[in-house]
Amino acid sequence: MSRYTGPVCRLCRREGQKLFLKGMKCYTEKCPIERRNFAPGQHGQTQQRRRKASDYAQQLREKQKVKRIYGVSERYFKTLFERAAQQTGVTGENLLVGLELRLDNIVYRMGFGSSRKQARQLVRHGHVQVNGGSVNVPSYSVRAGDEVRVAPKSKDILPVAASLEAKTRPDVVRWLAVDPETRTGRMLERPGRADIPLAVQEQLIVELYSK
Ligand code: SF4
Repeated sequence: MSRYTGPVCRLCRREGQKLFLKGMKCYTEKCPIERRNFAPGQHGQTQQRRRKASDYAQQLREKQKVKRIYGVSERYFKTLFERAAQQTGVTGENLLVGLELRLDNIVYRMGFGSSRKQARQLVRHGHVQVNGGSVNVPSYSVRAGDEVRVAPKSKDILPVAASLEAKTRPDVVRWLAVDPETRTGRMLERPGRADIPLAVQEQLIVELYSK
């Protein structure tokens, strides 16, 4: 399945919670989920009244939520899961860490983009460098010690400046060091599950794919 290109607020409404997919606009515009907190579509309101969701439905929703937060395709997500399952350690944690290490996510967490979608666009358009070299692959996996920066020619472009100045910017996680002035950041260490500020139950995703 290709990447979803429809209205992103529907995705939040489907998951029943704010996923902050529109960056700064999620804070400055009226959030549809506050007015219509039920699933989109003709049966959205009736679905909500139904009895408790089955185990499978809960697992599926958790997987969809994580996929939507990071904005990745089903095929990529499944591949990442299979890789996570082969690694040592806890599969669910490996999966989340794999997603966190994506270059577009790192650019977002450093505050150079106001959403993961915008960060992905910055990477794709060649505005981001890793260790001094241009990298335009959003799924590029950043390693501990790597320096990530906005390319010198792009330092003052509007999306980066606006994102860094926004009061709604998420706090930088402790495993990343950022200098907003020089638009430069460094990954200090590989994060663990406790370092990833994401309220999801990754174990449900492992159960889903283990069926
Ligand atoms: Fe989600 Fe943001 Fe839309 Fe609210 S405004 S529904 S948080 S994408």
